[in-house]
Amino acid sequence: MNTENTFRLDGKDIPFKKGDTIMDAALRAGEYIPHLCHNPEFKPHGSCRLCVVDVNGRHQASCTLPAEAGMEVDNSSDAIRQRRELLLQMLFVEGNHTCPACEKSGACQLQAVAYYIGMLSPHLTHFFPKRSIDASHPDIVFYHNRCILCGLCVRASEQVDRKSVFAISGRGIDSKLVFNSPDGKLGGSELEFTDKAVEVCPVGAIMPKHLGYETPVGQRLYDTKPISVVGDVAAHSKPEKPFISDKSHE
Ligand code: SF4
Repeated sequence: MNTENTFRLDGKDIPFKKGDTIMDAALRAGEYIPHLCHNPEFKPHGSCRLCVVDVNGRHQASCTLPAEAGMEVDNSSDAIRQRRELLLQMLFVEGNHTCPACEKSGACQLQAVAYYIGMLSPHLTHFFPKRSIDASHPDIVFYHNRCILCGLCVRASEQVDRKSVFAISGRGIDSKLVFNSPDGKLGGSELEFTDKAVEVCPVGAIMPKHLGYETPVGQRLYDTKPISVVGDVAAHSKPEKPFISDKSHE
């Protein structure tokens, strides 16, 4: 192995190309680094911090850190696992993630990563914030309760759909996703079901109407294999059936 173009990840040599981040090279080599706001199709955001790894003794976000020859990267130490667990626990208590009642259960990346990390409880006190549901769109329901503000829909709408339907507004606990429409409702925006922004959501925040529980719990993506094997939900989440617009609200 040419060590000029490799770094070590948990003791394994990982080859990388010019311009690769640690995450890029690791995923290409089949090594899973937990992540939520990262999607290889988009420029890294580095906001969820779940992809934290130990690089030569420092904790760094692997989705934004350029790979360099000879780096020693630890993706599995107790300290890294505990840090990721705390980040996940904060996400769970900050929103209202009622997995047993969520249509995305079994196909949700947040839930799957929590299982992968071994998070057994939220540990922290739940905020139980009051957040709304926007059902104004004919084909899509938006659950603010479940949004983890990963920004993937924002990037997809801007970079692929060329619409900029979504933006993150506010700060801290008051941050929320907002929609570019005259009345601020999703139904008044340019969003269409076929948009990339609809398919990238890693959790159950952007959900199709009419198809809620089509795939039974127990037969969904991460029910059969862990996220470390299956990968991101976005590649698998698009419903195959054609959509039936509910025009009754119009
Ligand atoms: S709606 Fe989904 S994709 Fe968009 S910011 Fe929230 S969690 Fe991320």
